[in-house]
Amino acid sequence: MKVLFLAHTEADGGLGKAAKEALGAAKGLGGELVVGLFGETVQQAADAVAGCGATKFYGVAGADFATARYVSDAAAAEAICKAAGADVIVAPATSRLSRVAAGVAQRIGAKIDTRLTGLEMAEGKIVATRWYYRQRMFGKIQRETSPWFVTVDSGCFAPVEAAGSASVEMLAAPVSAHSEVVEVIVPAADAQTIRPDAKLLVVAGAGWGKSQADGQKHVDEAARLILSLLSATQASLGSSKSLVDQSGEGAALPFLTHMHQVGQTGSTPRHPKGLATCCHGEEPHVVGWRFIGERRAINLDANCGWAQGKADVLYVADAFQVVAKLVDLLR
Ligand SMILES: Cc1cc2nc3c(=O)[nH]c(=O)nc-3n(C[C@H](O)[C@H](O)[C@H](O)COP(=O)(O)OP(=O)(O)OC[C@H]3O[C@@H](n4cnc5c(N)ncnc54)[C@H](O)[C@@H]3O)c2cc1C
Repeated sequence: MKVLFLAHTEADGGLGKAAKEALGAAKGLGGELVVGLFGETVQQAADAVAGCGATKFYGVAGADFATARYVSDAAAAEAICKAAGADVIVAPATSRLSRVAAGVAQRIGAKIDTRLTGLEMAEGKIVATRWYYRQRMFGKIQRETSPWFVTVDSGCFAPVEAAGSASVEMLAAPVSAHSEVVEVIVPAADAQTIRPDAKLLVVAGAGWGKSQADGQKHVDEAARLILSLLSATQASLGSSKSLVDQSGEGAALPFLTHMHQVGQTGSTPRHPKGLATCCHGEEPHVVGWRFIGERRAINLDANCGWAQGKADVLYVADAFQVVAKLVDLLR
C-alpha cells in the first residue's frame, strides 16, 4: 500500500501544525510513505520532515501557488496525486485544502472522506473515524476503493518533526488563470480571535453584558478585559449563543461574530484547556466543549450548569474581578 501525505506550505515556507499532524496520521498507516507539497516554496517544509521515512518527495512551487486559489491549488494537488499514484492520500483539513480536496478527488477518480478524527489499520484494513450530527455520534468507515482521499482534523494526531535534508522532485502544474489574486486582505493579528492552535479556549457568556452589582452594565470594560486576557494568553475566543446574538443586535461586544459561537448550533473546537466566563453552562452550549480537555468556569452562581458536573473547577466569583486580576498577574 502506498500512502501520499499531501499538504500546502505556509507563508513562511514551513509546514503548519495541522499538516505535521496529518503526516503523523499518514505515517501511522504503515505502508510506503510519499510526501507531496505545494506552495510558493516547498524545500524548507520538505526539510522539516525529511526524516519522516518517506521514500519520495514531490513538490509544486512558484508564485502561482503562494496563496489559496482554487484553480492553482487544485492543479498542484492533482499533479502531485497523479505523479504519486498512491492508494491513500492523507491531507490536513485546513480551509485551504478543504476547498480543493473534493474537486481533486473527482479529477483523479478517488472517493473522499473529510475531517476524520481517527485513521488506523485494523486487521489489514484502513478504518477511518468521523463524527456526525454535530459531534453527537461517530462512525467508523471502511472503503474498498483506491485511491481514497481523506482529510484529517487538527488536534487528533501526533505531529511529526523530523528535520533533515530532502531531495524533492519538482512537478509542473499548468494553471489556466481564470482568476487572479489581486490582494490578500487579512484581519490584524489582534482582530483574529479564533485561534484553533491555541492551548486555551476562553468563552465569553452573556453575563458580561448584564447589569452588575451596581445595577449598571459595563460592556466597554468587559470588552477591554476580554481583549486584554486574549492578548496576554493568546487564547482562542469562543462565545455562548446568547452573547453572540446580542452582538448581532449591536448591544454587546463588537469583536464577536457567529463564528465564535460554541455549542450545539455553533462550533466544537479542540483545545487542551477551556475557561468559561459569565456563561451559565447550559447543555446546548456545553455540548460544544466535547473536545476541551480540562474545563474551568467563573460564575457568580454556585448552582450554574458548570457546577452540575460540567466543569472540573468552578470559581464562584465575579468574572470582572477575576479577569482583571489575572491580566495583572500575567503582565
Ligand atoms: C436548539 C438550541 C440550540 C442552542 N445552541 C446553542 C449553542 O450552540 N451555543 C450556545 O451557547 N447556546 C445554545 N443554545 C442556548 C443555550 O441553551 C443558552 O441559552 C445559552 O448558552 C445561554 O448563554 P449564557 O450562558 O451566556 O447566558 P445566560 O444563561 O444568561 O448566563 C449568563 C451567566 O452569567 C453569569 N454572570 C453574570 N454576571 C457575572 C459576573 N460578573 N461574573 C461571573 N458570572 C456572571 C450569570 O450567573 C449567568 O450564569 C441553544 C438553545 C437551543 C434551544
